[in-house]
Amino acid sequence: MCSVCGTIKRNIFTLMAKNVGADAIATGHNLDDTVSTMMSLFFAGDFEEIARLKPVLKPLLPGQPRKIKPLITTPEIEDLYYVALNELPVQECGCPHGEFTPIKGMKKWLDEMEKEQPDIKFRLLSIFRRKLIPLVEKNMAKEVQEIKACTVCGMPSSSDICAKCRRVMELKEVMGRISYEELEVDMEDIQNLGENVILLDVRDRAEYESYTLKGAINIPAEEIEKRWRELAKYKKTHKVVVFCNSGRTSYSVAVKLRNLGFKAYNLKGGIMASI
Ligand SMILES: [Zn+2]
Repeated sequence: MCSVCGTIKRNIFTLMAKNVGADAIATGHNLDDTVSTMMSLFFAGDFEEIARLKPVLKPLLPGQPRKIKPLITTPEIEDLYYVALNELPVQECGCPHGEFTPIKGMKKWLDEMEKEQPDIKFRLLSIFRRKLIPLVEKNMAKEVQEIKACTVCGMPSSSDICAKCRRVMELKEVMGRISYEELEVDMEDIQNLGENVILLDVRDRAEYESYTLKGAINIPAEEIEKRWRELAKYKKTHKVVVFCNSGRTSYSVAVKLRNLGFKAYNLKGGIMASI
């Protein structure tokens, strides 16, 4: 999901910048975002992608804006303090798929490391920027890919049709086959789903024990994969209504279950909206 979203998002940013005649796109990536992404890519062995996380990237085609990340050395928490002190408006809505990204796990891991080594994030950024990236770039120079304009949208691409245009074509094809319209249900809709309905509470055990919906079973979101067998037996026979407090984590679980062939639904607004 993140790679689809990221590809399309970058394409839109570039188009918007061109429309207003801007020669640079500045994004708000902070130290935590950058180092956690670099570490995830490092563990995946994707060194070329690490090189693309540099704070200044030249345009791939003439006339395109360059990309800059002015906050790359600022810790996330300092951005938050700055925003709060200056009462700046922030985007509060989170991505429904953000709960499961490997980056989130990596951020947690780095936060743990930071307790014993307070400068670990700065040191890692410096190692990547000053040691690893120059090595990778020296190597990459030998096999420079030819960049041309996408035949559909005109954006830089290594093939005739760019990654974003290929993704959009794939998505259009999938959307023609699957409809996600009825993914979200409210309490009334649940009555109409029939008898074989499993209510799946994906909050943690303590929340489940303090209050839940009648008849609900509890598998915390992060344990879904581990406790897969328990769910798999309902795949053919039952519909699964997933819920959490806000409806956000459960949404991503419901999408995941649908992709795995379940008849899954998300309780809109979460358990809070149903009380
Ligand atoms: Zn294109």
